[in-house]
Amino acid sequence: MKLVVVLIAVLLLVWLLLGSSRRRAKKARRDSPAARPAPQVEGMVTCAHCGVHLPGSLALQVRGQAYCSEAHRDAGPRVP
Ligand SMILES: [Zn+2]
Repeated sequence: MKLVVVLIAVLLLVWLLLGSSRRRAKKARRDSPAARPAPQVEGMVTCAHCGVHLPGSLALQVRGQAYCSEAHRDAGPRVP
């Protein structure tokens, strides 16, 4: 009878250890950099009129020139 109790205790201990290591491995896989989506990188452009830098998606593009606003687009490129 004592042997059965010891055997059950050993099996319970092995089951608990395997369960915790499996949970740890799953969490490590979830937190790994490969599992995370890559950050979105967006190019910056320079306003042809005032020289401010802004994300390309927010710029107004006219004939290959980028502008920060409609007023600067209408004013055109800065003349040095
Ligand atoms: Zn500007």
